[in-house]
Amino acid sequence: MSGLAYARAASLESATEVIGSHRAAEVIAGGTDLLQRLEEHVLPPPLVVDINGVEGLRAIEVDDHEIRLGALVRLNQVIESAPVRDAFPAIVEALIVTASPQVRNLATVGGNPLQKTRCLYFRDQSTPCNKREPGSGCGALEGRNRINAILGGSEHCIATHPSDFAVAMAALDATVLVVGARGERRLPFTELHRLPGDTPHLEHNLAPDEVIEGYRLTRTPLARHSHYLKVRDRGEFEWAICSAAVALELDHGGRIADARVAVGGVATKPWRLGQVETALQGRQATAEAFAEAAALSVQNAVAHGDNAYKLALLPRTIARALTELRERL
Ligand SMILES: Cc1cc2nc3c(=O)[nH]c(=O)nc-3n(C[C@H](O)[C@H](O)[C@H](O)COP(=O)(O)OP(=O)(O)OC[C@H]3O[C@@H](n4cnc5c(N)ncnc54)[C@H](O)[C@@H]3O)c2cc1C
Ligand code: SF4
Repeated sequence: MSGLAYARAASLESATEVIGSHRAAEVIAGGTDLLQRLEEHVLPPPLVVDINGVEGLRAIEVDDHEIRLGALVRLNQVIESAPVRDAFPAIVEALIVTASPQVRNLATVGGNPLQKTRCLYFRDQSTPCNKREPGSGCGALEGRNRINAILGGSEHCIATHPSDFAVAMAALDATVLVVGARGERRLPFTELHRLPGDTPHLEHNLAPDEVIEGYRLTRTPLARHSHYLKVRDRGEFEWAICSAAVALELDHGGRIADARVAVGGVATKPWRLGQVETALQGRQATAEAFAEAAALSVQNAVAHGDNAYKLALLPRTIARALTELRERL
């Protein structure tokens, strides 16, 4: 960790000023991802700006229309929030299966969607990786890619986005509140992350001087009827190889009036499946309708050898998530 400079920000304005004027500087929140990266010498920033002293970012604010999460809200704080559990169950379910209780006590909702990929080559300095070192090549394309993406990849990168929380936030139409040197702006959560294309090292749409202040979630009957299902290689303390956040609103006749489907562990960013949502609308909420709509999830998928099993796993995960949700509506 030699050569690392540390600063503490008293306000978000001062944090944005400092990271905007120091190339590659990063804010640090819970530090559960950034400190691991520093220990592994993977893209260590020259300066970290600690935002834990900034007031007003640790609250979950609730009113009749929406819930607002400050960027420094800890993952366990969200799990323990009865209003969030009631209005957005998929978010709490995604966090319950995230990391461990100890990690969740530290990790924040601001840092979680910006954690780095678990692609094996990204964290191994002896191998090529376009995300770590642009232009060096991609070790995963022809290598060990069992955990890599089948959706949203490019010839330069097929790394999956690792966050569970982000998948639920994408499904439930969350808004990101952003602060930068030019003031505040709002961003649909689905536009926070970028596709890798030929610049996989650029992962999100925040400017160098911008930080996440928090999120807004609008209460809707649809969000209240939501569910998160995660498939992983072991029962605890593991990232997803496939996951689905789903929401359904049924009319009085049991037909699907509205649906949301987003998936994780299979795509280069939290991945909304608009074609699956459209296929569900107007159908009776049956296992057959779920399976037919879920089959569309892999229409544009590309497998790369070891990860071909995800072509079968993804539709099954979506259909199972919808079935589990239907059983409790
Ligand atoms: C053993 C282990 C298992 C894990 N398992 C899972 C899992 O199953 N599912 C899962 O989703 N995650 C998992 N994680 C990842 C964990 O959830 C993340 O490390 C954590 O949520 C990151 O939040 P943080 O506050 O610690 O971020 P930090 O480490 O502080 O920061 C991470 C990144 O976000 C940036 N950042 C932080 N806050 C802001 C902000 N407000 N605005 C702009 N940028 C910001 C930082 O600059 C940095 O680039 C696991 C982690 C560990 C260590
Ligand atoms: S998939 Fe992306 S992160 Fe993994 S080796 Fe290739 S370029 Fe690097």
